[in-house]
Amino acid sequence: EDFCKRLPKIELHAHLNGSLSESTIQKLCQLEGAPHLFDNWQVAINHGEHRTLSECFEMFKAVHALTVTPEAVKLATASVISDFEQDGIIYLELRSTPREVEGRMTKEQYVDAIVEAILAHQGKIVVKLLLSVDRRHRSDDAEHALKIALDVRAKHPDMVVGLDLSGDPTAGSLDLFLPTFVKARQHGLGIVMHCGEVSNKAEVLEILKFRPNRLGHVTCLHPDLGGCQEQWKTLIESKIPVEACLTSNLRCKTVPSYEKHHLRHLLSARHPVALSTDDKGVFCSDLSNEFHIAAKSFDLSEQDLRDLSINTVDFCLASQQMKEQLRRCFQ
Ligand code: 5GP
Repeated sequence: EDFCKRLPKIELHAHLNGSLSESTIQKLCQLEGAPHLFDNWQVAINHGEHRTLSECFEMFKAVHALTVTPEAVKLATASVISDFEQDGIIYLELRSTPREVEGRMTKEQYVDAIVEAILAHQGKIVVKLLLSVDRRHRSDDAEHALKIALDVRAKHPDMVVGLDLSGDPTAGSLDLFLPTFVKARQHGLGIVMHCGEVSNKAEVLEILKFRPNRLGHVTCLHPDLGGCQEQWKTLIESKIPVEACLTSNLRCKTVPSYEKHHLRHLLSARHPVALSTDDKGVFCSDLSNEFHIAAKSFDLSEQDLRDLSINTVDFCLASQQMKEQLRRCFQ
């Protein structure tokens, strides 16, 4: 466990509002002047029990009730960055969905608050931002997210590195948002997409054809987990790096156990993977813990874990120069 904590790590799949620790939630409740808002949360945060995917999405709603002003978003972002830094993360790609709260915050102010917190952080961790497109939203929301991403990039080059497709995997359709992702790519942004969290062969194949820079989860692609040989083979042949979120998938009940997680198959196929937390607050597991679980479940040595961490540098959406800098942290 100590080894996993000390190991320099890269976190590539972390949703801001899913990553808030219990103490950050408490601070946000105080800021909102509503300590009772925390009551529903205590059980969830403390126990991180297994729940269905839709129950997880209910939990995001509860957190969203706390990050409703630029001040709260800034506090949340600053705390999340510090938490990751304390866990030995040297590079973080934090993602979040631009959100407006009527009368209190515009989407632009939401993103500016995140950017301000990133700029204000004094520490060694390098933080980049991905803006998320929520599948429950409309296509013009996706266009709006892209516009904000480009506006922020104009002011702070290198800060926003890409666009993410996330949100309830049973909602919306890829076709609705694909034109925006095509444009984002033309503008030089990286593309990351949640893929195959529920069985949806046609969409999975469409995503693989689009070739995002990275894929999130890929839970239901392997034949053992509700997928089929065609999807799995296409994934492996694509060599597109996968953000593997062990505890998240277990707690959302999309995989039956750590041992049966598809990471086993990805590792044995030598497929590029990045261990990730997804939502360290909601699922009560930091990245060191994910490395520890991977070691126990798949019999990985310290050298294997080190290789896993170092290889993740290749999948960052940062510049080559930044990647060189990150590699030096492992020497
Ligand atoms: P936010 O974007 O508000 O900072 O973070 C929370 C949001 O991230 C959720 O409302 C949801 O749209 C997205 N999200 C967090 N975890 C997951 C996940 O495991 N799967 C998917 N598809 N979306 C997620």
